[in-house]
Amino acid sequence: MISTKTVDLGNGRIITVTATCTVSDDISYSDGWNINLGRKISRKVVCSVEKDGKNICSGDFCQVVTPDEKQRYPAAVGSIADSIYLGAESFEKVKTAYDAAVAEAEEPEAKELDAKEKARVEALDEMYTKYEPTQRPYGWCDKCQSCCYGDCEAA
Ligand SMILES: [Zn+2]
Repeated sequence: MISTKTVDLGNGRIITVTATCTVSDDISYSDGWNINLGRKISRKVVCSVEKDGKNICSGDFCQVVTPDEKQRYPAAVGSIADSIYLGAESFEKVKTAYDAAVAEAEEPEAKELDAKEKARVEALDEMYTKYEPTQRPYGWCDKCQSCCYGDCEAA
């Protein structure tokens, strides 16, 4: 689905957040054989900045984290497309719109796929913690983490 949210920053700038989420077949085009690798989720969020009716930039919305940015724009909490910097108040407004757009665009099937993937990874983790200690090669020694057959203790 596609969801669009608009934020008026009140200084002539209007931010439009467009979130897209689609689920489709993941086809591998391998030498004439089209192999379906299962369902694939694509998520994308683009923020556009309009000033006085003109689009001035569009790209990612993110937090200001690099020391360089913090030095140049001390009051900035976030940025759009690495060119518009946002103070705390504007950042909160855009973040609220961003989160709402992402939540609204989310496909039910994507949620199901994410839950399935999470369960699969958890089951694998559990299997490894359960069987890993019994799957060590003969002669394995925990002390030196190699197959020393206890030689490291013998010396
Ligand atoms: Zn050892």
